[in-house]
Amino acid sequence: LMRLYGPLTSLSNVHVDVMTALVSFDRVFEILDLKPMVAERPGAEPVPEGPVTIEFDDVHFRYPSAEEVSLASLESVARQDTGPSQPVLRGVSFTAKPGQLIALVGPSGAGKTTITSLVSRLYDVNEGAVRVNGLDVRDATLASLRDTVGVVMQDPHLYHDTIEANLRYARPGASEEELWEALRAAQIGDLIESLPDGLETVVGDRGYRLSGGEKQRLALARLLLKAPRVVVLDEATAHLDSESEAAVQRALKTALQGRTSLVIAHRLSTIREADEILVVQDGRIAERGRHDELLRRGGLYAELYRTQFSR
Ligand code: ADP
Ligand code: MG
Repeated sequence: LMRLYGPLTSLSNVHVDVMTALVSFDRVFEILDLKPMVAERPGAEPVPEGPVTIEFDDVHFRYPSAEEVSLASLESVARQDTGPSQPVLRGVSFTAKPGQLIALVGPSGAGKTTITSLVSRLYDVNEGAVRVNGLDVRDATLASLRDTVGVVMQDPHLYHDTIEANLRYARPGASEEELWEALRAAQIGDLIESLPDGLETVVGDRGYRLSGGEKQRLALARLLLKAPRVVVLDEATAHLDSESEAAVQRALKTALQGRTSLVIAHRLSTIREADEILVVQDGRIAERGRHDELLRRGGLYAELYRTQFSR
């Protein structure tokens, strides 16, 4: 019975993680599936205090195959046998120092989102290590990792609940004034204020339907409330093209201020401000440097610049 009880307990903990993590809904299910594979080690330590350095040290990674996932999870979910998966990251090394903004750019499918997901240890690396303030994330408590890293994905998940409840997932004890402060900084205060039910407005398909840009600003408000030491951002230009782009840019600036940030960047304005640009191609860092250097080199970055980056 104890053998069964252990895994069940760790599965029920997943729920708590999931409710508080700023991750997209797809990710939630990935975590549910994979949690048994990223169990907390006995004697795990909290992420060391202070401004954060993130270090990728020759990281190799492939997604666990369907077979490995079902072997590791408690329920034997019927899945197609897809065989071993392809390597997705093949020797990625970089360091993000305290307060630095690292921009990840590169073609779709290159591995950018995968790199960011390893910081909060959604998966374990196959070779090499990811360290946060010198501590291998595999030796960190999952709770401290969750507290340290704030993530805003491209299509943020909101719970079918009130705006207030959605915000409080990030910081349960926040005062109402703090909620409004975050909403205003994320440039969505006026909108919420104009709704008849204000913070009590229920969002979601059967409630008030927020546009993509509004959802993202709400997710940014959550991020500002959480005030994590590390910010991971998957920039969503698709949603924001026609909406108050400049306002969201200001909110982003606030969110990134003084924090160690990894940003999957599409906007030239973000890329130009990055302390280092990592050009990811085919699971490797093909080029790295600052905007002007990389442009002068006339390689992949220069090509991406011509074809992909907007404004
Ligand atoms: P990018 O963010 O640069 O577009 P991703 O990191 O999302 O790239 O994907 C890199 C590679 O990993 C792609 O080949 C993609 O199909 C694969 N991949 C992404 N997520 C998963 C997953 N959950 N399971 C299996 N393969 C995945
Ligand atoms: Mg991606």
